[in-house]
Amino acid sequence: MIDLLGGEAASQHECSRSGCRHEAGWAILWRNPKIHTADRRKTWLACDEHCAYLQDFLEARSFPLEVLPLSELLARTSPEEHLS
Ligand SMILES: [Zn+2]
Repeated sequence: MIDLLGGEAASQHECSRSGCRHEAGWAILWRNPKIHTADRRKTWLACDEHCAYLQDFLEARSFPLEVLPLSELLARTSPEEHLS
C-alpha cells in the first residue's frame, strides 16, 4: 500500500513544499525510476498554491506522477493509515 509520510502521525496534512505551512488539499504520488521499484510511490501533499509547482518539479525530471485530491488518497488507505 501507500507509505504515507513514513507512517508518522501528524495532526494535520501540511503542504510538502519547504517552508509552506498551508493545509494540503492535494496528494502527489510519484517515484524516481532510478531509485524506486515500479511498485514504490512517494507521497507529497500540496496546498492549492503549490500543487502545480510540485508537479512541474517532478515533470521536469520526467518522474511518473499521479495527482489526486487528498480526500481520495485518504479514502484509498485503510483507517489505521490515516494521519489524523
Ligand atoms: Zn504550499
